[in-house]
Amino acid sequence: SRIRSHIRSHIRTVQDWPQPGVAFRDITPLLSAPASLRLIVDALVARYRDQRVAHFAGLEARGFILAPLLAYELGAGFIPVRKQGKLPYRTLSQSYDLEYGQATLEVHVDACAPGERVVLIDDLIATGGTMLAARTLLERLGGEVLEGGAIIDLPALGGSARLRAAGLPLFTLCDF
Ligand code: IMP
Repeated sequence: SRIRSHIRSHIRTVQDWPQPGVAFRDITPLLSAPASLRLIVDALVARYRDQRVAHFAGLEARGFILAPLLAYELGAGFIPVRKQGKLPYRTLSQSYDLEYGQATLEVHVDACAPGERVVLIDDLIATGGTMLAARTLLERLGGEVLEGGAIIDLPALGGSARLRAAGLPLFTLCDF
């Protein structure tokens, strides 16, 4: 489709960053071009327009760029899902495995109320670990997590299959 080919041609692939062997998909060219930014935000807005979403939860750091744009446009709120030690008030924590080592995500204990409808937003799905940890956090608060949304899926890394197996719907605009 038009949007897929537009995204493909506006993503920059940076070889061997942040470490040798990694091909990093950089979304900054997509954000800096006004027509591209509008295209991706409009596509996500269309997806969530009639879903009665109470909050868009953005996953640090690039989810913080997209989630507030959707929240503003759709009259919803924004929840920051942050890396460990960044949030000032009482938090819930969720650790998950990375390829080497572990990472921890946190939310404020009052970020959402039981039964509120939440969509999780990030730029990219690789192994799916980040998105699944965020879902666990929001569900521990009693939120109803509708799905994860992102610009890019890297299906070869298995994340979208892992999310499917875990019963978390995923919506992405493009795969690589
Ligand atoms: P996962 O938890 O393995 O699915 O990794 C996804 C997380 O790592 C997201 O928060 C992404 O922003 C980040 N990430 C991993 N690889 C890339 C990449 O190639 N480009 C941009 N972000 C990436």
